[in-house]
Amino acid sequence: MVDSNTPVVDLRDIWKTYGMGRKDDAVRVDALRGVSLSIEDREYTAIIGPSGSGKSTLMHIIGCLDNPTSGTYYIDGEDASDLTEQDLAEIRNSHIGFVFQQFNLLASLNAWRNVELPLSYAGVPSSKRRTRAMEALERVGLTDRANHKPGELSGGQQQRVAVARALVNNPSLILADEPTGNLDSVSTSDMLALFHDLNEEGRTIILITHDADVAASARRIVQVRDGAITSDSASTAPAAATSTVITSSIRTGASTPTASARIPDMSLRRVPR
Ligand code: ADP
Ligand code: MG
Repeated sequence: MVDSNTPVVDLRDIWKTYGMGRKDDAVRVDALRGVSLSIEDREYTAIIGPSGSGKSTLMHIIGCLDNPTSGTYYIDGEDASDLTEQDLAEIRNSHIGFVFQQFNLLASLNAWRNVELPLSYAGVPSSKRRTRAMEALERVGLTDRANHKPGELSGGQQQRVAVARALVNNPSLILADEPTGNLDSVSTSDMLALFHDLNEEGRTIILITHDADVAASARRIVQVRDGAITSDSASTAPAAATSTVITSSIRTGASTPTASARIPDMSLRRVPR
Protein backbone atom coordinates (compact mmCIF):
# COMPACT_ATOMS: atom_id res chain seq x y z
CA MET A 1 0.00 0.00 0.00
CA VAL A 2 1.25 3.39 -0.90
CA ASP A 3 1.27 6.14 1.71
CA SER A 4 -1.92 8.18 1.38
CA ASN A 5 0.13 11.36 0.96
CA THR A 6 1.68 10.04 -2.25
CA PRO A 7 0.34 12.05 -5.19
CA VAL A 8 -1.62 10.05 -7.74
CA VAL A 9 0.10 11.98 -10.52
CA ASP A 10 3.57 13.47 -10.09
CA LEU A 11 5.22 14.86 -13.22
CA ARG A 12 8.74 16.24 -12.89
CA ASP A 13 10.20 18.35 -15.68
CA ILE A 14 8.37 16.49 -18.45
CA TRP A 15 9.34 17.27 -22.04
CA LYS A 16 7.67 15.83 -25.11
CA THR A 17 9.14 16.42 -28.54
CA TYR A 18 7.32 15.00 -31.54
CA GLY A 19 9.27 14.08 -34.66
CA MET A 20 12.43 13.05 -32.80
CA GLY A 21 13.19 10.27 -35.27
CA ARG A 22 13.03 12.60 -38.26
CA LYS A 23 16.14 13.89 -40.01
CA ASP A 24 14.70 17.34 -40.58
CA ASP A 25 14.85 19.37 -37.33
CA ALA A 26 12.16 21.68 -38.66
CA VAL A 27 9.47 19.01 -38.20
CA ARG A 28 10.22 18.65 -34.50
CA VAL A 29 7.63 20.09 -32.13
CA ASP A 30 8.23 20.65 -28.43
CA ALA A 31 4.68 19.93 -27.30
CA LEU A 32 5.64 19.97 -23.60
CA ARG A 33 8.54 22.03 -22.25
CA GLY A 34 9.38 21.07 -18.70
CA VAL A 35 6.00 20.42 -17.09
CA SER A 36 6.00 19.67 -13.35
CA LEU A 37 2.62 18.91 -11.84
CA SER A 38 1.49 17.02 -8.78
CA ILE A 39 -2.11 15.91 -8.28
CA GLU A 40 -3.35 14.36 -5.05
CA ASP A 41 -5.89 11.62 -4.58
CA ARG A 42 -9.49 12.95 -4.79
CA GLU A 43 -8.55 16.28 -6.35
CA TYR A 44 -10.70 17.75 -9.14
CA THR A 45 -8.37 19.60 -11.48
CA ALA A 46 -9.05 21.34 -14.76
CA ILE A 47 -6.21 21.76 -17.24
CA ILE A 48 -7.02 24.70 -19.47
CA GLY A 49 -5.21 26.13 -22.45
CA PRO A 50 -5.71 27.19 -26.07
CA SER A 51 -5.65 24.74 -28.95
CA GLY A 52 -2.15 23.41 -29.57
CA SER A 53 -0.88 24.25 -26.07
CA GLY A 54 -0.08 20.62 -25.25
CA LYS A 55 -3.14 19.55 -23.24
CA SER A 56 -3.81 16.28 -25.08
CA THR A 57 -0.11 15.43 -25.07
CA LEU A 58 -0.15 15.91 -21.30
CA MET A 59 -3.23 13.74 -20.93
CA HIS A 60 -1.64 10.95 -22.98
CA ILE A 61 1.37 10.95 -20.70
CA ILE A 62 -0.71 11.10 -17.49
CA GLY A 63 -2.83 8.23 -18.84
CA CYS A 64 0.24 6.12 -19.70
CA LEU A 65 -0.82 6.17 -23.37
CA ASP A 66 2.48 7.78 -24.42
CA ASN A 67 5.98 8.25 -22.98
CA PRO A 68 7.70 11.56 -22.32
CA THR A 69 10.87 12.41 -24.23
CA SER A 70 12.51 13.32 -20.92
CA GLY A 71 11.55 13.91 -17.30
CA THR A 72 10.06 11.57 -14.71
CA TYR A 73 6.47 10.52 -14.17
CA TYR A 74 5.55 8.94 -10.86
CA ILE A 75 2.10 7.40 -11.04
CA ASP A 76 0.89 6.67 -7.53
CA GLY A 77 4.50 6.76 -6.38
CA GLU A 78 5.87 4.42 -9.03
CA ASP A 79 8.24 5.62 -11.73
CA ALA A 80 6.27 4.92 -14.92
CA SER A 81 9.50 4.29 -16.85
CA ASP A 82 10.17 1.29 -14.54
CA LEU A 83 6.83 -0.30 -15.41
CA THR A 84 6.43 -2.92 -18.13
CA GLU A 85 3.90 -2.56 -20.96
CA GLN A 86 1.82 -5.13 -19.11
CA ASP A 87 1.90 -3.08 -15.89
CA LEU A 88 0.91 0.05 -17.80
CA ALA A 89 -1.96 -1.76 -19.53
CA GLU A 90 -3.14 -3.00 -16.14
CA ILE A 91 -3.10 0.57 -14.76
CA ARG A 92 -5.00 1.89 -17.77
CA ASN A 93 -7.59 -0.88 -17.61
CA SER A 94 -8.20 -1.01 -13.87
CA HIS A 95 -7.45 2.41 -12.45
CA ILE A 96 -8.10 5.01 -15.13
CA GLY A 97 -11.32 5.88 -16.92
CA PHE A 98 -10.86 7.82 -20.17
CA VAL A 99 -13.42 10.17 -21.72
CA PHE A 100 -12.79 11.87 -25.07
CA GLN A 101 -14.36 14.70 -27.04
CA GLN A 102 -15.48 12.41 -29.87
CA PHE A 103 -17.20 9.86 -27.54
CA ASN A 104 -15.42 7.01 -29.43
CA LEU A 105 -18.40 4.66 -29.25
CA LEU A 106 -18.75 1.76 -31.68
CA ALA A 107 -21.69 2.62 -33.94
CA SER A 108 -22.74 -1.00 -34.48
CA LEU A 109 -23.08 -1.79 -30.77
CA ASN A 110 -25.89 -0.66 -28.50
CA ALA A 111 -25.18 1.33 -25.32
CA TRP A 112 -24.64 -1.54 -22.90
CA ARG A 113 -22.49 -3.45 -25.40
CA ASN A 114 -20.28 -0.38 -25.71
CA VAL A 115 -20.10 -0.04 -21.93
CA GLU A 116 -19.13 -3.69 -21.36
CA LEU A 117 -16.19 -3.57 -23.80
CA PRO A 118 -13.50 -2.71 -21.21
CA LEU A 119 -14.74 -5.66 -19.12
CA SER A 120 -14.19 -8.09 -21.96
CA TYR A 121 -10.64 -6.74 -22.34
CA ALA A 122 -10.21 -7.26 -18.59
CA GLY A 123 -11.39 -10.88 -18.89
CA VAL A 124 -14.59 -10.50 -16.85
CA PRO A 125 -16.95 -13.41 -17.63
CA SER A 126 -19.85 -12.51 -19.91
CA SER A 127 -22.43 -13.42 -17.26
CA LYS A 128 -21.19 -10.54 -15.10
CA ARG A 129 -20.55 -8.05 -17.86
CA ARG A 130 -24.13 -7.15 -18.62
CA THR A 131 -24.97 -6.54 -14.95
CA ARG A 132 -22.00 -4.26 -14.48
CA ALA A 133 -22.66 -2.41 -17.75
CA MET A 134 -26.26 -1.83 -16.65
CA GLU A 135 -25.09 -0.53 -13.25
CA ALA A 136 -22.76 1.92 -14.98
CA LEU A 137 -25.57 3.07 -17.29
CA GLU A 138 -27.80 3.55 -14.27
CA ARG A 139 -25.07 5.65 -12.67
CA VAL A 140 -25.23 8.09 -15.60
CA GLY A 141 -29.04 8.04 -15.77
CA LEU A 142 -29.35 6.08 -19.02
CA THR A 143 -30.98 2.79 -18.02
CA ASP A 144 -33.80 3.41 -20.48
CA ARG A 145 -31.39 3.78 -23.42
CA ALA A 146 -29.37 0.61 -22.82
CA ASN A 147 -30.51 -1.01 -26.06
CA HIS A 148 -30.10 2.04 -28.26
CA LYS A 149 -27.22 2.39 -30.67
CA PRO A 150 -25.11 5.59 -30.62
CA GLY A 151 -26.85 6.90 -33.75
CA GLU A 152 -30.16 6.77 -31.89
CA LEU A 153 -28.87 8.91 -29.00
CA SER A 154 -28.24 12.65 -28.61
CA GLY A 155 -24.68 13.93 -28.23
CA GLY A 156 -25.17 14.39 -24.49
CA GLN A 157 -26.50 10.83 -24.16
CA GLN A 158 -23.63 9.42 -26.20
CA GLN A 159 -21.14 11.15 -23.94
CA ARG A 160 -22.93 9.70 -20.90
CA VAL A 161 -22.58 6.24 -22.43
CA ALA A 162 -18.87 7.02 -22.84
CA VAL A 163 -18.69 8.04 -19.16
CA ALA A 164 -20.47 4.80 -18.19
CA ARG A 165 -17.86 2.90 -20.20
CA ALA A 166 -15.13 4.84 -18.35
CA LEU A 167 -16.76 3.94 -15.00
CA VAL A 168 -17.42 0.26 -15.63
CA ASN A 169 -14.05 -0.81 -14.18
CA ASN A 170 -14.63 1.46 -11.15
CA PRO A 171 -11.51 3.59 -11.76
CA SER A 172 -10.05 5.85 -9.07
CA LEU A 173 -8.82 8.37 -11.69
CA ILE A 174 -10.91 9.86 -14.50
CA LEU A 175 -9.12 11.60 -17.37
CA ALA A 176 -11.41 13.58 -19.64
CA ASP A 177 -10.06 15.36 -22.73
CA GLU A 178 -12.50 18.09 -23.91
CA PRO A 179 -15.47 15.94 -22.79
CA THR A 180 -17.89 18.82 -23.40
CA GLY A 181 -16.31 19.99 -26.65
CA ASN A 182 -19.13 18.55 -28.78
CA LEU A 183 -22.00 19.20 -26.37
CA ASP A 184 -24.64 21.92 -26.17
CA SER A 185 -24.88 24.01 -23.02
CA VAL A 186 -27.53 21.88 -21.30
CA SER A 187 -25.60 18.65 -21.91
CA THR A 188 -22.42 20.41 -20.78
CA SER A 189 -24.07 21.33 -17.46
CA ASP A 190 -25.23 17.74 -17.01
CA MET A 191 -21.77 16.40 -17.75
CA LEU A 192 -20.15 18.81 -15.27
CA ALA A 193 -22.72 17.90 -12.61
CA LEU A 194 -21.88 14.24 -13.19
CA PHE A 195 -18.13 14.89 -12.83
CA HIS A 196 -18.84 16.88 -9.67
CA ASP A 197 -20.71 13.90 -8.19
CA LEU A 198 -18.03 11.42 -9.25
CA ASN A 199 -15.46 13.59 -7.49
CA GLU A 200 -17.67 13.77 -4.36
CA GLU A 201 -17.70 9.95 -4.41
CA GLY A 202 -13.95 10.02 -4.05
CA ARG A 203 -12.68 9.79 -7.61
CA THR A 204 -9.77 11.92 -8.76
CA ILE A 205 -10.74 13.92 -11.84
CA ILE A 206 -8.57 15.62 -14.42
CA LEU A 207 -10.68 17.60 -16.88
CA ILE A 208 -9.01 19.06 -19.95
CA THR A 209 -10.71 21.96 -21.69
CA HIS A 210 -10.12 25.16 -23.64
CA ASP A 211 -13.29 26.67 -22.09
CA ALA A 212 -12.91 28.85 -18.98
CA ASP A 213 -16.54 28.31 -17.92
CA VAL A 214 -16.05 24.54 -18.01
CA ALA A 215 -12.75 24.81 -16.12
CA ALA A 216 -14.46 26.87 -13.41
CA SER A 217 -16.43 23.80 -12.32
CA ALA A 218 -13.21 22.18 -11.04
CA ARG A 219 -11.67 22.97 -7.67
CA ARG A 220 -8.21 23.62 -9.08
CA ILE A 221 -7.27 25.21 -12.41
CA VAL A 222 -3.94 24.63 -14.12
CA GLN A 223 -3.25 26.81 -17.16
CA VAL A 224 -1.05 25.56 -19.97
CA ARG A 225 0.41 27.67 -22.75
CA ASP A 226 2.99 26.68 -25.35
CA GLY A 227 3.71 23.43 -23.54
CA ALA A 228 4.34 24.95 -20.11
CA ILE A 229 2.24 25.60 -17.00
CA THR A 230 1.63 29.32 -16.62
CA SER A 231 -0.59 29.27 -13.53
CA ASP A 232 -1.97 26.84 -10.98
CA SER A 233 -4.59 28.00 -8.51
CA ALA A 234 -7.75 27.12 -6.63
CA SER A 235 -10.88 27.82 -8.63
CA THR A 236 -12.60 31.00 -7.48
CA ALA A 237 -15.99 29.51 -8.32
CA PRO A 238 -15.91 25.74 -7.75
CA ALA A 239 -19.56 25.66 -8.71
CA ALA A 240 -21.55 22.51 -9.01
CA ALA A 241 -23.04 22.78 -12.47
CA THR A 242 -26.66 23.77 -12.67
CA SER A 243 -29.02 20.91 -12.02
CA THR A 244 -31.39 19.78 -14.74
CA VAL A 245 -33.88 16.99 -15.11
CA ILE A 246 -31.19 14.61 -16.30
CA THR A 247 -28.93 15.56 -13.44
CA SER A 248 -31.61 14.74 -10.92
CA SER A 249 -31.95 11.26 -12.40
CA ILE A 250 -28.17 10.92 -12.09
CA ARG A 251 -28.42 12.02 -8.46
CA THR A 252 -31.09 9.39 -7.83
CA GLY A 253 -28.76 6.80 -9.27
CA ALA A 254 -26.06 8.05 -6.91
CA SER A 255 -28.16 7.20 -3.88
CA THR A 256 -27.67 3.50 -4.64
CA PRO A 257 -24.50 2.12 -3.05
CA THR A 258 -21.67 3.98 -4.71
CA ALA A 259 -19.67 4.44 -1.55
CA SER A 260 -16.09 5.45 -2.03
CA ALA A 261 -15.24 2.16 -0.31
CA ARG A 262 -15.92 0.53 -3.67
CA ILE A 263 -13.32 2.63 -5.41
CA PRO A 264 -10.09 0.70 -5.60
CA ASP A 265 -6.93 2.03 -4.10
CA MET A 266 -4.78 3.28 -6.94
CA SER A 267 -1.88 1.20 -5.57
CA LEU A 268 -0.39 -0.63 -8.45
CA ARG A 269 -0.57 -4.36 -8.32
CA ARG A 270 2.78 -5.26 -9.73
CA VAL A 271 2.71 -8.00 -12.28
CA PRO A 272 5.34 -10.62 -11.43
CA ARG A 273 7.96 -10.88 -14.13
P1 ADP B 1 -3.94 20.60 -27.44
O1 ADP B 1 -4.55 19.32 -26.99
O2 ADP B 1 -3.73 21.59 -26.33
O3 ADP B 1 -4.68 21.20 -28.58
P2 ADP B 1 -1.77 18.90 -28.40
O4 ADP B 1 -1.15 18.26 -27.21
O5 ADP B 1 -2.69 18.09 -29.22
O6 ADP B 1 -2.46 20.29 -27.95
O7 ADP B 1 -0.60 19.43 -29.35
C1 ADP B 1 0.50 20.19 -28.88
C2 ADP B 1 1.44 20.47 -30.04
O8 ADP B 1 2.02 19.25 -30.47
C3 ADP B 1 0.76 21.07 -31.26
O9 ADP B 1 1.68 21.96 -31.85
C4 ADP B 1 0.51 19.88 -32.15
O10 ADP B 1 0.49 20.25 -33.49
C5 ADP B 1 1.70 18.99 -31.85
N1 ADP B 1 1.39 17.56 -31.96
C6 ADP B 1 0.44 16.88 -31.28
N2 ADP B 1 0.47 15.57 -31.60
C7 ADP B 1 1.47 15.41 -32.50
C8 ADP B 1 2.01 14.30 -33.22
N3 ADP B 1 1.54 13.05 -33.03
N4 ADP B 1 3.05 14.52 -34.06
C9 ADP B 1 3.55 15.76 -34.23
N5 ADP B 1 3.10 16.86 -33.61
C10 ADP B 1 2.06 16.69 -32.74
MG1 MG C 1 -6.31 18.40 -27.50
